[in-house]
Amino acid sequence: MIRLQSLLCAQMHQNYASKVLFQPVSLVINGNKYLSSLSSGNIDANDVAKRSLENMKIIIKKDTNSTNNKSSILNAKDWVHELHLNGTGYLTLSKKDEQLQHKSNTTTVAADSNKKNIELVLVTSSSNGSDRHQTFIYETLDTNMSKSFDEYPTILDTNTSLQNPQCTKTSPLRWRNFALGDIKLRIKEAVEAMRDFALKHNNQINLPESDKNTYLNALSEAEKFIEMDVMVTSKKDKERLFNYLQLPSEYTSSAQARVALQILNAAMSAWIFNYPMMKQNPSISQQNDKVNQEFLKLSKELYEAILDSVLISSIMSINKPVVFKHKKVTTERIEKYISDTYFTDANIYGKIYPLINKDAVSLKVTTEKTDRLSYNDAMKLSFRDCKVGEVFGPSWVTYWFKVHIEVPKEWKGKIVHFLWNSSSEAMIFKDGIPVQGLTGGTWVDKRIEYKLFDKVADGGELVNFEIEMACNGMFGVGKDGLINPCDETKTFKLERAEIAVFDEKAYKVYTYLTMLYDIAKNFPEDSVKASQAIWCANEMINHLNVQNSQTFDVVIEIAKKFFSLKNGDSQTVVTATGHCHIDVSWLWFYAETKRKAARSFATQVLYMDYYPEYKFTQSQAQLYQWTKELYPELYQKIKEKVVKGQWFPVGGTWVEMDGNLPSGESFIRQFLMGQRFFKKEFGEYSKVFFLPDTFGYSAQLPQVINHMGIRNFMTQKLSWNNINKFPHNTFIWEGIDGSQVLTHFPPANTYNSQADVKELVESATNNKDIERCNHSLMLYGNGDGGGGPTIPMLDRLHMLKDTDGIPKVKFSSVDEFFDTIEGCRENLLTWIGELYFELHRGTYTSQAATKKGNRYCERELHSLEMIMSLCDHYLGTSLYRDHRNSLQELWELVLLNQFHDVLPGSSIGLVYKDCYEHHQKVLQTTKKLIDKTLEVLVSHISPSSSTGSNTYVLLFNSNDFEITRTLEMPVQTKTLQKSYHGQSLQTVTIQPNSVKLVNLTTMEATKPQVPVTLKESELDLFIQNQYIKLTMDKTNGKIRSLVLVNGDRELIKHGEYANEFVLYEDIPLFWDAWDVEIYTQEKPIQKPKSTHVPKVLESGPLRVVLQCQFQTDENCVITQLITVNHYSSRIDFETTVHWKESRKILRVEFPTNIRSPNANYEIQFGHIERPTHFNSSWDVAKFEVCGHRWADLSEYGAGLSLLNDCKYGYSIHNGLMKLSLLRAPKAPDAECDMGTHNFTYSLYPHDGRLQDTGVIAQGYQVNSDFYQSSCFHSDNANLEHKQIPSDKAFITTDKNSVIVETVKLAEDNNDLIVRVYESYGGHAKFHFVSNQSIDHFTEIKECNGLEEPLSTHSTVEKLTLSNEFSLTPFQIKTFRFIR
Ligand SMILES: [Zn+2]
Repeated sequence: MIRLQSLLCAQMHQNYASKVLFQPVSLVINGNKYLSSLSSGNIDANDVAKRSLENMKIIIKKDTNSTNNKSSILNAKDWVHELHLNGTGYLTLSKKDEQLQHKSNTTTVAADSNKKNIELVLVTSSSNGSDRHQTFIYETLDTNMSKSFDEYPTILDTNTSLQNPQCTKTSPLRWRNFALGDIKLRIKEAVEAMRDFALKHNNQINLPESDKNTYLNALSEAEKFIEMDVMVTSKKDKERLFNYLQLPSEYTSSAQARVALQILNAAMSAWIFNYPMMKQNPSISQQNDKVNQEFLKLSKELYEAILDSVLISSIMSINKPVVFKHKKVTTERIEKYISDTYFTDANIYGKIYPLINKDAVSLKVTTEKTDRLSYNDAMKLSFRDCKVGEVFGPSWVTYWFKVHIEVPKEWKGKIVHFLWNSSSEAMIFKDGIPVQGLTGGTWVDKRIEYKLFDKVADGGELVNFEIEMACNGMFGVGKDGLINPCDETKTFKLERAEIAVFDEKAYKVYTYLTMLYDIAKNFPEDSVKASQAIWCANEMINHLNVQNSQTFDVVIEIAKKFFSLKNGDSQTVVTATGHCHIDVSWLWFYAETKRKAARSFATQVLYMDYYPEYKFTQSQAQLYQWTKELYPELYQKIKEKVVKGQWFPVGGTWVEMDGNLPSGESFIRQFLMGQRFFKKEFGEYSKVFFLPDTFGYSAQLPQVINHMGIRNFMTQKLSWNNINKFPHNTFIWEGIDGSQVLTHFPPANTYNSQADVKELVESATNNKDIERCNHSLMLYGNGDGGGGPTIPMLDRLHMLKDTDGIPKVKFSSVDEFFDTIEGCRENLLTWIGELYFELHRGTYTSQAATKKGNRYCERELHSLEMIMSLCDHYLGTSLYRDHRNSLQELWELVLLNQFHDVLPGSSIGLVYKDCYEHHQKVLQTTKKLIDKTLEVLVSHISPSSSTGSNTYVLLFNSNDFEITRTLEMPVQTKTLQKSYHGQSLQTVTIQPNSVKLVNLTTMEATKPQVPVTLKESELDLFIQNQYIKLTMDKTNGKIRSLVLVNGDRELIKHGEYANEFVLYEDIPLFWDAWDVEIYTQEKPIQKPKSTHVPKVLESGPLRVVLQCQFQTDENCVITQLITVNHYSSRIDFETTVHWKESRKILRVEFPTNIRSPNANYEIQFGHIERPTHFNSSWDVAKFEVCGHRWADLSEYGAGLSLLNDCKYGYSIHNGLMKLSLLRAPKAPDAECDMGTHNFTYSLYPHDGRLQDTGVIAQGYQVNSDFYQSSCFHSDNANLEHKQIPSDKAFITTDKNSVIVETVKLAEDNNDLIVRVYESYGGHAKFHFVSNQSIDHFTEIKECNGLEEPLSTHSTVEKLTLSNEFSLTPFQIKTFRFIR
């Protein structure tokens, strides 16, 4: 083999030093241009290139070992020609790297070993790709052509010759990773170091004086250009520079390239002149040896820095034709270069995976579809061979795959990805542990890649793992689209199972182009930023040759120049926290969510290994609980990441619940269970209430949040408002009691941010409080169906950390974000009252059975806790303690089903099967336990319950109100009236929170002071008691008149009917189950008609009961029992509806003649006022609102309350009161609300203000029942004997406005927890009243909702039952009663 030694050199020039390094660059540039001219056959195409090469010579010298010492000089043009004939397509110039140096075994290298590190490498590559290189090295560059060739630095062939172009496949030569931003700094520093050094040691430097001066001048000139930030803008600048550099005028290179060349000249003149002098004058060199060595070192550094820069800059810019740029056309050009649909054969997207191997992956799959199995159970199944293209299904089943991969040997050193797309969700297991989730399909949330090795492949590896394939997509199995009902027969095709080489640089180029495209699209068209982005991307594309990965470096450098321009201090800081919103049920059900959580969590844990600075936020204790139970190893990893400060549990609640519908106590329990879980598992309570995706926020939430130890609140849903724009992003939210929480709505208006330019920019531009607080939070990561951040999201944010014009990115936690904005608090505005969501108003009504189930579960759990507390405290039993775990489980089920897509009614039908079962379990278990507790109480009263002459029953009132009720007795008693069932009726009153023993045998038929009566005329029915006169039209079953006896005040609007059912057309804009739209109000379409004259079932004196029926056709049949008792003005409407309508909403309406600008609605622990008019758009938006047990419309002297036992949707305007009863949406549950419904609503006319006339108590009454024990027999039962006070409150207060809401055992011991609230909206002082002796409770401690004593109370006086306590309007207090 001929050892070709050649010297690549330029022709002689007088000022050689300033030209010498310019020439090799010129050779590369023009050589490439010329090569492509040759390839295209159009040799005259690039005349400049040709001419430039004509002027250049390459000197080739034979091997020094060879006897023939002759050398030859080639014209560069001819040499390039020759390369072309050998198939060379591309020339590049680089520096020789270390590895190559050691590989060189020529004597020349050995002899001149002190001349290392000043080498250049010329690489020629074939037109087919980068694997055919020819390499030449200059070891040094001497310019003195007068010397003999022996003294020239030699250029070595690295065992590569023109004859053996293949051998550099594994060549260590690689295009250097240039970092232009760094290089600029490097050059600057190197220039400064050189200048300082040269000035200081001028005398000692071994340069001729004239050269020294030239050299110093050059340095100083160069510095000026650097300071000018290399923007050569005028023609004069250019001429000056070109003259100085003696550059030919056709070099229209960028200013940066020119300056780099200039500095390079300066450096080279130092270095080049110095080297031979050092060599020639050893004595001088010895004398100033140290100085000159240092000088050499500095010049070498400068030289190297500049060389990197000049190579890139020159290649980028020289001889570029300047063309007119059309913004729109150019922007589309960028789009096509990153498109995953168009031109993928020629664009950069198509190069991210340049090599794909399908044969390397072999698959086996379970022979049968399975249910959701554990890994261990799945591995016991039998497996068969399987191929890509197979189809799996139907919806919701599971298949397990065994994956075996043989990595090709030749992929050594490559980054290898496993690509899997089963058109569905899937999860990779390694050694039985989930390691990453996969999301198939084609949508934006696709995640099909799994990195096989931490770094690169060794080649030849055998890899095995398993995949669990779930036959559902990220968004379930909806028919033809997102929110449609499930298609139970859906199938999923295995589209890909292969391995691929991942080209990191192509991916980087792609990412930069994508971001530039986003800037071009999202900044105003006439903005500087958009123009610059288009320019930069266009430059990148011009220099990009997707077939040649070496050009990727060049274009990455172009991009970096753009992205490394820094922001000023005024730029918004965006705290970016990774997040994965997992709807605990929605278009899938709980069982699948457990796997969704594991898939998402495993992925994020893995990414935390890849990106140590990555921070991730995850809410919902329930998801952690499931992961802990089902995937303990994964859970352990999560805990480790929490400790490491990468994973941040957040939120404080059990699930992200609905913000309107749960009761006050449910709100408290969401936090109590959530916070206790977080504390136990992760060591601390959440500091932020995190509820990004619920459909409105109760005005009582700020107080609940505070009560549960939280001061900060994060959400964003109001950005979806469809009428008014909410005016804040960072503000103080104040609840009805005055509690305040620092609140932030991420201005990107999403909790599933894609971490792209658009959302970063919007984090500033959408921030309506930016002048008050220049910080925004961004929650990035795919969500709803889970997933979380993707690698591209993380990379984008890293690249955009601080780019001029785009908000700065800070990787941090939500807690830290709130700590930051706390500093803005004093400037923030306050929003008082509810955060009413102007959308999804149908969620107060959809899925009626779920809402009823929830309401009933809430009240039954309340009663159970009360009666078990009562029993244990009266009798010293341990019922509560014994059933603590059951209670915990029951609450978990209730809280779970309050999730923000479940309770609102926006989930698929399958979810409501689960939900129904859960609610039934709670209701059955609570009933069983309440019955059991009653039996325990009874057993203490009458141990032998089978004997005795008297029959007793024990009744229990679980509410903090005296309640009167006409009851059907379990056995016949003396009575004035029998029910229509034939049972004896008795009116019974029970004191608050108490049990009452009733002797059925001795019970008298007590005549009411004023009985209720029923009279009839030809047309009407008249019902009257001491409070009201009710007139019902017999012909249509509707209420014609309702008069308050006291004051003779008619409440029904003249000429209209009350208790009128109306069906409205109910077709929302998109979100079917979610939305009732404003126009629905304009389109009543049907009024169910009375089918017969009201039937009188009972006619007094205790109560009157009428039966009515109304219907449209068989799709809507309404049966009602209308009851009026002698003791109350309340009219109860016990209603059954057979409902098979489609896209209609059923309301019951009461037109009143009450005039008031506001109506009141019960919410959690209080009530709020809302307008009854449509003055402003904000009033209009509240055309349908959420109320709990009652809504009330009152004027001075008279009012009407509309109560319910399981409804939430009200609209009260212009005197017309409406209650929404049922809807019939068809998505995502096609069967939503179809079937039979039972519910009760009531009308409560009153003459005073709502606070004075017992409206609040009526709300409790309509929502409760007396609990009854079984009948038992005794001769003389006496509760007092047994320490069970009959008909005396267990615990109550002496103030009507103060309600004991909850009595329960403490979570951590057997203290009694008593929660009270002020219900009227005024200040209140009160005492507790208990039948337990005052000594029984030795101390009362005020606590927070977490049941922790408030520190202020621990050291002051010991509070007992004798103390007076106080509450402010709507205040909630929790007390610990200590025995
Ligand atoms: Zn959600």
